[in-house]
Amino acid sequence: MRPSIIHKSPAGLPVAPNLADYQSERERFSWATARAELPRLPGGGLNIADCAVTRHARGPNRDQVAFRFLSEQTSHELTYGDLDAQTNRFANVLAGLGVGRDDVVFVLAGRLPELYLAVLGSLKNGTPVSPLFSAFGPEPIATRLNAGSGTVLVTTTSLYLKKVAKICDQVPSLRHVLVVPDEPDEPLPPGTRDLTGLLAGASDVFTTVATQPEDLALLHFTSGTTGMPKGAMHVHDAVVTHWVTGRDALDLHPGDIFWCTADPGWVTGTSYGIIAPLLHGVTSIVDEAEFDAERWYAILSEQQVTVWYTAPTAIRMLMKAGPELAAARPRPDLRFVASVGEPLNPEAVWWGQEVLGLPIHDNWWQTETGGIMLANTPAFDILPGSMGRPLPGVDAAIVVRGAAGLELAGEDTEGELVLRSGWPGMFRGYLNDPERYARCFSGEWYLTGDLALRDAGGYYWFVGRADDVIKSAGHLIGPFEVESVLMEHPGVAEAGVIGKPDELAGELVKAFVSLKQGYQASDELRLEILGHARRRLGAAVAPKEIAFLDALPRTRSGKIMRRLLKARELGLPEGDTSTLEGGG
Ligand code: ATP
Ligand code: MG
Repeated sequence: MRPSIIHKSPAGLPVAPNLADYQSERERFSWATARAELPRLPGGGLNIADCAVTRHARGPNRDQVAFRFLSEQTSHELTYGDLDAQTNRFANVLAGLGVGRDDVVFVLAGRLPELYLAVLGSLKNGTPVSPLFSAFGPEPIATRLNAGSGTVLVTTTSLYLKKVAKICDQVPSLRHVLVVPDEPDEPLPPGTRDLTGLLAGASDVFTTVATQPEDLALLHFTSGTTGMPKGAMHVHDAVVTHWVTGRDALDLHPGDIFWCTADPGWVTGTSYGIIAPLLHGVTSIVDEAEFDAERWYAILSEQQVTVWYTAPTAIRMLMKAGPELAAARPRPDLRFVASVGEPLNPEAVWWGQEVLGLPIHDNWWQTETGGIMLANTPAFDILPGSMGRPLPGVDAAIVVRGAAGLELAGEDTEGELVLRSGWPGMFRGYLNDPERYARCFSGEWYLTGDLALRDAGGYYWFVGRADDVIKSAGHLIGPFEVESVLMEHPGVAEAGVIGKPDELAGELVKAFVSLKQGYQASDELRLEILGHARRRLGAAVAPKEIAFLDALPRTRSGKIMRRLLKARELGLPEGDTSTLEGGG
């Protein structure tokens, strides 16, 4: 058995962590002080893009590389000065079209420079913006454009022709479609405008609109893991959360080369793939290509990445690809690795320690929270399997439903994870659904919908989403615990666990697993995995059934969709599959 803790010694780290003393920083912290560290605009204005881009372009970071865009063949850099000029051009394009603060820009593009220019340029113009996954099909695009009353769409010629042309007339609010040609001299589809030409003709001088902190800035749709995706509304003040969490949870330092692997179509790819690293004046790597284990190891090594923010799904795929690939690419510069999006199994944290030479720091947040809330930071020990502790400025608790309503739970008691309202990055509403938003709160607490427990050291442990918890023969079983044990078996690459209705037990635990390279599905292997789970979990909690799948259904942000496993198992309708990976 491995030990249950990874000890950290801040003194031995290559760079002194920003969050050196967790307790004293929590006591000292105030959001007002953090806000005061960011530049303001006339009249008390605060604008994300001004903080992220303009102030660096006017200071010593002007010639520092802000983004290095990698594609299969090429690499293209933008300094902070370039980014400022180009986003000014984009803002001028919008202003020239009469697009203002009451409009909404949607962006549907791969991870191209124009996507980043559109997001930051819209913010400069005071226009709220919503990046979408480019892999969405026409229906999900139309649904989201309508939900957000999109007036401008930025996309590429090929995406327009493939997906948007057929739904344009279903979106009455849409006034302008700006396309980036895939090839030079490509004919412009009717009804669209050429963004490249418009940018070239626009001035690179622009005065950022002095948005107020509570003005709408970003719309992000949730991953759709548990049901129909919801549109979360975020304001410019969220920049304070991006700033603080980039410092305390991701430990960004001047000179860092940071790689956030998330697509901006998912909140992580915007909060941490665009905004937070720019706020800290570091260089971000953006890879246009999709996951490929060899390519990813090459990027970490050749780009000299120092801080890497990725997701459990990617880590599981790297684990599946075997340790030899990792060994072939030295990573002397890599200093800090973090993960978000799903529970990170202890096995994966240890894999980091053993194969990457660095433990993986799990952190927890949601589209609704706008930024990281709980984290394993460089400054304290890691308990593999735990999401870490609340960051400075974040008050978390566990509540249970008692006779008198919600009650705060004690240590080691499973209940719903709640956060005290009032941090700047918190969503300000769900699009078109004020009732649902209101239901997320009980007094001062925001109810996250996730079940967890807190131990005596203040570490939080994920149990499961409230929707996914299994009730079997009087036991409440969190899928995460069962999945983590299944992943301890050397043949298991990923596991998803559901409750299957059963007359006697209420529900019985059924597991779906995919196997690592070199393993074949067989009854023998099934019995072996069942035996391992029974030994580790006991008969009451261990799965009764295991099915082998080539791959588990996942959202585009990489989360296992247990609701789909369940619907398929029970022959029920699959519900919203707009975010299903490989669909669309
Ligand atoms: P939907 O709300 O549409 O069902 P979603 O909740 O997956 O989708 P996101 O906002 O992208 O949409 O994901 C947030 C959720 O992801 C969290 O509520 C939690 O369930 C899960 N999650 C994120 N990070 C972690 C983590 N470190 N450990 C466990 N779960 C996590
Ligand atoms: Mg959610």
